[in-house]
Amino acid sequence: MDWDEARIHVLTHALHYGTAVFEGLRCYKTDRGPAIFRLEDHVARLVNSAKIYLMDLKQSPEEIANAIKSTIKANNFEECYIRPIAYYGYGEMGVNPLPNEVNFAIAVWRWGAYLGKNALTEGVRCMVSSWHRINPLTLPPQAKASANYANAALAKIEAVKAGYDEAIMLNTLGMVSEGTGENIFRVKRNIVSTPTAAAGILRGITRDTVIELAADLGISCQRTDISREELYTSDELFLCGTAAEITPVREVDGRTIGNGDRRITRIFQTAYDDIVHGRNKSYARWLDYIK
Ligand code: PMP
Repeated sequence: MDWDEARIHVLTHALHYGTAVFEGLRCYKTDRGPAIFRLEDHVARLVNSAKIYLMDLKQSPEEIANAIKSTIKANNFEECYIRPIAYYGYGEMGVNPLPNEVNFAIAVWRWGAYLGKNALTEGVRCMVSSWHRINPLTLPPQAKASANYANAALAKIEAVKAGYDEAIMLNTLGMVSEGTGENIFRVKRNIVSTPTAAAGILRGITRDTVIELAADLGISCQRTDISREELYTSDELFLCGTAAEITPVREVDGRTIGNGDRRITRIFQTAYDDIVHGRNKSYARWLDYIK
C-alpha cells in the first residue's frame, strides 16, 4: 500500500486506548545487500508482547518475518527503520479490546541517528525524569505496547522542554531503569553494568547484543541495580537501542560524565557497527539478507 493511502479510522481502538504492540528494527547496508539485524529476535518479542495482552495474531512468526522482508524489497531500501505494529482496530468502542479485529501493519522509512546528528560522536545530555518508569503492577514493562509510551512521552517532553536530549527514568523503587526508548549501560573502573530486567526495563535486543559482545571481548559486564548517583559518578555511560544504536551520554543533570575519553563505549560502538554492516562474520547469524 502506498504511504499516502495508509489510513485508519479515527475510532480505531488502539488510538483511544493504547491497545497495540509493536517493534522497531533496522535494516543495514552490507556488501551482500540490505540485511535486517536480529529479525527473529524482534519477531519473537512481538509475539510475546501480543501474548501478554492476550492479543490473537493471525500471522505466524515466519509470515511476519517474510512480510517485513517483502516490505523492504518493495520499497527498494538499502537501509531503513522497520515498524511492525499489531493493533486492535475499528469496531466497538469501550475499553474491552476483544470485540475488535487485530490488524497488522508494517511501515519502513529512512531514519538517521535517533538522538540527533552528532549524538553518536558527541554524546547526549540527559536528565533524570520526575516521571517514574511503569512497573509490573501497572503495565507490563517487558511488553512493547503502545500504552507504555505515554509514560515515556511524558518523560521525553519534560526532558526536551528543559533543554535536554533524553530522559533517564527511575523505577518506582528509585533505581535506574532506562531511557524513553533505550536501555542504559554504565562503565566504572572498566566494569560495565546495566539494570536487571527487574528494574522495569524493556529487554532490549541491543542491550542483549552488548552483553554478548562484552563476554566475547573479555569485558566484565554485570546486570545489577544502579542508583541515580551512580549515573553521576560513572566513567562512561551509554544508551542503546535499535533506533539510538549505541549513543554516549556526556552529561546527566548537569554533571559531566567521566573525562570524556569513552574508550569502552567506542569499543562497543565499533563492534556494533561492524556487526550490523556484515563486516564481522562471527555474528553472521544475526543478519537476515533481503535478497
Ligand atoms: N527500552 C525502550 C523503552 C525502548 O522503546 C527500546 C527500543 N525498542 C529499548 C529499550 C531498546 O530495545 P531494542 O534494543 O530492542 O531496540
